[in-house]
Formats: sequence, C-alpha cells, structure tokens
Amino acid sequence: MKFNTKAIHGNQHHEEVTGAVMPPVFLTSTYAQKSPGVPVGEYEYSRAANPTRTALENALASIENGSRGLAFSSGLAATDCLLRGLKAGDEVIAMDDLYGGTYRMFTRIYKESGIVFHFVDFNDTDAFSKLLSDKTKLIWAETPTNPLMKLCDIKVIAELVKGRGIIFAVDNTFATPYLQRPLDLGADVVMHSATKYLSGHSDVIAGALVIKDAALGEQLHFQQFATGATLGPHDSYLVLRGIKTLHLRMQRHGENGEKVAEFLENHPKVKQVFYPGLKSHPFHGLAKTQMEGFGGMVSFTFKSGDKAEAVKFLENLKVFTLAESLGGVESLANHPATMTHASIPEDKRKAGGISDDLVRLSVGVEDIEDLLADIEQALK
Ligand SMILES: *Cc1c(COP(=O)(O)O)cnc(C)c1O
Repeated sequence: MKFNTKAIHGNQHHEEVTGAVMPPVFLTSTYAQKSPGVPVGEYEYSRAANPTRTALENALASIENGSRGLAFSSGLAATDCLLRGLKAGDEVIAMDDLYGGTYRMFTRIYKESGIVFHFVDFNDTDAFSKLLSDKTKLIWAETPTNPLMKLCDIKVIAELVKGRGIIFAVDNTFATPYLQRPLDLGADVVMHSATKYLSGHSDVIAGALVIKDAALGEQLHFQQFATGATLGPHDSYLVLRGIKTLHLRMQRHGENGEKVAEFLENHPKVKQVFYPGLKSHPFHGLAKTQMEGFGGMVSFTFKSGDKAEAVKFLENLKVFTLAESLGGVESLANHPATMTHASIPEDKRKAGGISDDLVRLSVGVEDIEDLLADIEQALK
C-alpha cells in the first residue's frame, strides 16, 4: 500500500463481531477468563493491552513502516519508556537543539540517576564520532527541530552507529511519516508526540514509539506494561481517527506553510525566516532529499530584534491563537523564549539561537488568504 491508503487501512480491519468499520472504544479495564489464566479472547488487563489501543498501535506501525507501535499517555511518556532501559554510566548522544521537555527530562531526571548526556551538532560528524564509545547506548535526534527547524541527516547518523548495538531514535513529531520515515532511513525507533499532527485536532495528549526490530519492540512493550504510562481507549480512538486524515491535513499544512514562509521572507519588518522549504534555509538541500515536503511549522525573527515587537505581534493576531503546542487544524502562534522553551536556561537558549524576538507559527489548514491577512495586520 502507498502512504495515503495506509493512513486509512494499514494494519486495520473492521470489528469482527458486528462488522463495525471503526473499532469500538473498548472502555474496559479487564477481560473475562474461562478458567484461571485462560482468557476468553487474547486480552487480560488493559494496562497490558486494550483492543482500541491495539488498533492504534497497529496503525502506527503501518504508517512508520515498523514492526511494532506502542501508544503512551503523552509524548514524554514515550520518550521516558525508551530512557528507562538505560543504567547509570550509560551514555546518550543527543542533538544540541531539542524540544524543551525532552531536554528537561534528560538533564533533570536521567542525568540525576547517573546517565551521561552529550549534546552535539549532528551535522558535525567528526564531533559526533568522537563521542561514540562502548558506553554509548542511545542516539537521540529530532529533525526538523523545534523551533529553529534544523535538520540532521538520518542516513549518515545511521551509518555511523550501525553494528554497535546502539539504539538510534528519532523524534518525528514535526515531519510526521507523511513527510519523513526515519525507520526506512536507518533509525531503530521513531518517537511521536501524537498530541500534535498525528491526532491533529488539539484535543488529546498522547505519545508513540514505533520500533523497527520485533525483539526491541517486545522489550519496550514490557517496559511500557511494567511502568504503566499507556494511552486510554478513548484517547487511542481519537489518535486513530486523526491518523485517517493525516495525509490530507499534512498536504494543506505544507501548502499553507510554504506561502506563509514566503510572505514573511518578503516582509520589510522580518529579519530571518526558519522554514526548510525556503532556498535561504541552511538545510534546504537535505530537506529536499530526506523529506517529501516541508510541513507547516514556520519560525521567524524581527529586524528590530525587539522582544516587545514580537509580543505585540502575538497579541494582535486574530485568526492565529496564541498558545503552546502545534500540529492541529487551527493556526497557533507561540513565543518559544517564554512559552515552550522556558525550561531551557537563558544562556543555553540564546546561544542556541532562540532569541527573545523569535516567533513560532503552527500554520493550520484555514484559507491561506485569511492567514496572510492576519499576519499582515498583526505586523502592521
Ligand atoms: C510536544 C512535543 C513533545 C512532547 O510531547 P507531549 O505529548 O507534550 O508529551 C516532544 N517532542 C516534540 C518535538 C514536541 O513538539
């Protein structure tokens, strides 16, 4: 199957008893047994597995071309599940530009328990290679990154770590499998904040891991079952429902994103636009080969470099809502320095390029004329 068909049918089947086309929301914690230890069906207790969650997990595996999908109560719970496999003394090499919550978990939870983190620019392959050792157990990449839209070459990193027993994980939240499939490019695990594009309607907090290798998938399922941050059946249904229109939404997000980026780049008040679809973007070439489009996330700074101007712009928007998060059908605007990335220390944040006049837009699927008019009036 091709992607658009997979989004709707991949690993999915109608419900067996009634023929219901969509899976019922199985609101049950437990399942009857015929005899002790002999369940009526294949389910025993919903922390281990629930049919609605199974339907979602199968769909996730299908769209990312993995052998196993796992659904969690949040994106961070998915990341946490992967990190829990590490022991004191193990080392992680992570990109130097990460989602704030991921950075906070690494440095304030897992570093405390003795895991060593190296943050490095994955495009500096010499610096990256020097950090590899027998102690390296996990590579963590995010591409494109939030909010500066930096990319790294997944194939190149996969080649560098191949055959060393290291897990290579990619946070694919921004691109989604519609635009980029890391497992096909050599990664071992894909992580999602399904809160964002996968669900697509800003109505659920959810996370996912999709694993290439079945044995690693089994190991991570054990971890998930044993620690318990699973996704509930109703939320599983919402994410599955979202996935069925992922391709349609992503197509429009991309079209609108490109137009917003071009508009901003030509605006006299704007200094720099961060969007991989622009020729001016430092990773435009890589984006063209690694991704099948450029998505709906656009960040930009002001010529004045003035935080007050960014704040005024955000207050003036009418169609865009000023809010955390991204990836829903509605357009959102965000001030990373005070909102999504406030958990990164100021010096680190500024050194990493997240200046006080940086604005991040999650361009929705509304009419482009209305979005451009809104940006225009807010800039004025
Ligand atoms: C939102 C987000 C996360 C965290 O996911 P939650 O669902 O909020 O726990 C991780 N990575 C990226 C890129 C995100 O945007």
